[in-house]
This record gives sequence, C-alpha cells and structure tokens, in this order.
Amino acid sequence: MEAHLAERIKRTPDGIEAESILRACVHCGFCNATCPTYQLTGDELDGPRGRIYQIKRVLEGEAPGASTQLHLDRCLTCRNCETTCPSGVRYGRLLDIGRAAVTERVTRPAMQRWQRNFLRFALTRQGLFNSAVRIGRALHRLVPPTLRGKLPSARAAGAWPRATHARKVLLLNGCVQPALMPSIDAATARVLDACDIEAVVAPNSGCCGAIDFHLDAHAAAQARARHNIDAWLPLLDGGVEAIVINASGCSAMVKDYAHLLRDDSTYADKAQRIAAATRDLAEFLPPLLGALGLRKPATLPETLRRVVFHPPCTLQHAQKVTGAVENMLAAFGAELVPFAESHLCCGSAGTYSILQPEFSQRLRERKLENLQRGRPAMILSANIGCLAHLEAAAAVPVRHWVEWLDSVLALTDTRAQ
Ligand code: SF4
Ligand code: SF4
Repeated sequence: MEAHLAERIKRTPDGIEAESILRACVHCGFCNATCPTYQLTGDELDGPRGRIYQIKRVLEGEAPGASTQLHLDRCLTCRNCETTCPSGVRYGRLLDIGRAAVTERVTRPAMQRWQRNFLRFALTRQGLFNSAVRIGRALHRLVPPTLRGKLPSARAAGAWPRATHARKVLLLNGCVQPALMPSIDAATARVLDACDIEAVVAPNSGCCGAIDFHLDAHAAAQARARHNIDAWLPLLDGGVEAIVINASGCSAMVKDYAHLLRDDSTYADKAQRIAAATRDLAEFLPPLLGALGLRKPATLPETLRRVVFHPPCTLQHAQKVTGAVENMLAAFGAELVPFAESHLCCGSAGTYSILQPEFSQRLRERKLENLQRGRPAMILSANIGCLAHLEAAAAVPVRHWVEWLDSVLALTDTRAQ
C-alpha cells in the first residue's frame, strides 16, 4: 500500500515503523474474514483492512473525527488479523500508532475521559482493587448489574507451598488477578513446587502496564515497565531463572517491554533482558512436566475429565503459543472437547468488556455457545480477563488450566513422593 506520511510524523520512529507496516499491506482483505468485529457489523470500517485505511489517512494528515475514533475503539486488539494475514502485516503495532495519533487530535467526551481515567486508577492499584472486590462481594445485591457480572465468585486459594528449592522463578504480582482469583497464583506455586521449582514474587512490582497502554496512556505504561524492571532485575541477577506469567495478557505485555522502551537509553537494554527472560506459563510448564514425568491419575472424576480449552488471543495470536496447553491436558488424562471458532476472541479484551459492552456481550454469547455445545464439565483458559468474562455467563465452572492441573496432581499425591 502506497503511503505518504505527513511531515510531522514521517521521520519519527513511529512514522518510519508505520510506513513500513503500511507498505506491507496489499489490501487483499483476507484478514476481514477472521475479524470478530467485522463479523458482527459487516462494515468495512470495523474490519482490519478498513482500520488500516483509516489510520493511513490520519498519518497522511487528514483530520480524524469521532467516527474514526469509534471504529478504532471497537477493535479488540485480538490480533487475529495478524495470524491470518499472508503478508505479515503487524496490525497491532500500527493500531497503537494510529490510536495515539487520533487521541492527540480528537478530544473524547467528558464521560468517556472520566470512565477511562477511573479504570486506569481503580484497576491498577492492588490494595484499592482488593478492597473494592471484598466490598462488592459482601454487598453483591447492591452492585450495579453491569459491574456485578465482572465479579467472579470467591473460591479458596489453598496453601502456598513452604518448601524452598534451588530453582526459582519470578511470578508476576499482577493487579486484578490476586483479588479476583487468588487460586490461580497459589495453584501455579503448588504445581511449580511439584516440579521442584520455587515461585517468588518481587514485593515492589505491580501492574504490567497493559491497562494503561490499551487505554492510550503510553507514558504511564512506560513508567510501570521501568518500575517493574527495577523490581525484577535484582532477582534475575540473584539467580531467578525466568519471569513466569500465568495471565497471557500480562505475559504478552511484558514481552513487549523491549519495544516499549526501545528509545530509552537507560532502560532499553534492561527491558530487552526482561523480555528475553519472560515466559508465559503455557510455554514454561508443559515441557517441564513431560521431562519430570509427573504421574497422571488412572482415571479422572467426571468433574475434571471432559474439558474445553479456550486459548486467549494474547496467547494464540499475540504470542503465537498454540497447542502446548491442549497437549498437556490430554497427557494428564483430559478428554478435550473440540469446538468451532477457537481463533475468535471471547469479547473480554481487557477493559473492552466495560467500554464496548454490546460487542463484548455478543462475542461472549457466541463463544460460550461454541464452547458449551459439546457439553464439557469445565471450561479452561489462560488469562484472568477471559476467565472472569466467561465465568459471568457460563453454565459450567470456568478455571485457569493450572488450577485444573493442580487438582489433577492432588489426586495422584505427586507432591508427597
Ligand atoms: S492486513 Fe494483510 S490480510 Fe489484511 S488486507 Fe492487508 S495484506 Fe491483506
Ligand atoms: S485486532 Fe481483532 S478486532 Fe482488531 S482488526 Fe484485528 S481481528 Fe479485528
């Protein structure tokens, strides 16, 4: 695609990157076929090719309006289009540049600005969010229905292992997960312990920055990345072998730190080191389990046997990690229920479910219909956002796959051997 970027952006790092991405696009439209929002509206402007055109025009100097902003806001950043594109167009990166350019020139209505600032404030402060979740659960009936659906029911985390091991990995001290589903981190620590690996948490670390970044607050996301890098590097220097993240939205973000801080002379090298040491749990754990030969139970109870795995977009499209969890589940005795449209987003997409509730709910209905058609006993996934979003409307329990594995290993007494 020919592009003639406006003088003010042409020679900037973003301009140079955007131009090379735009040139790779041959406007074939294959990407529209797998775009969830295009499937909902059938409007070219709500598909990747149409969004690429809209971003191109803005970068070439055309004044954007509220309509451009709306069509870019409606994008889930699921990056399904990147997986489909035969020309390797890095749509997600172009969208980041395009959204920033539109945000600079289009003032959002006051209500939208308030809502976005509130989400950035409330979701990224662990103490505050923790208290809000506790109050919300206690006063469940008084919580407005839109927010009530975001509050998964509380379940016990179980004990954190006490053993120490020579092998150590760093777990992310995420923002919403410890309050919404503390069982995920505890299950991760127990399964790692069964593999003779100790999970440590850096006390001064915090939110990975994804919430700020996807709400167009790029400088705030960079500040969070620097803060985490300062908290994590001493642990890596001290012998922690990897940063292992059990929420695929966060692992995708931390792997992006190198790009996020590429122009920061103080942090660029450090960010590269952090990104290189980061693994989603779905990458780190399954090979280890095979190598250690952890015992699997002869049979699984009905409640654990027949499961369906929803691979989050941040795992399958952003990180291109596919098949690892499914193979591991089968190796431990699960009967995996096949389902249609496994490539499509469930509609969670970070804060999208709050900011674009209609599209989000339609995508969830479609996803749950597909996931539940084969009558699984349980839905499994790999990201806190997807888990909470699906659980609010699912007819069967929804769990992180590591919680499932923790339950299965408990049946075999593996940890006592
Ligand atoms: S992004 Fe890729 S698939 Fe979509 S129109 Fe461009 S070249 Fe075709
Ligand atoms: S990121 Fe997802 S929603 Fe956005 S254009 Fe690509 S496929 Fe469509």
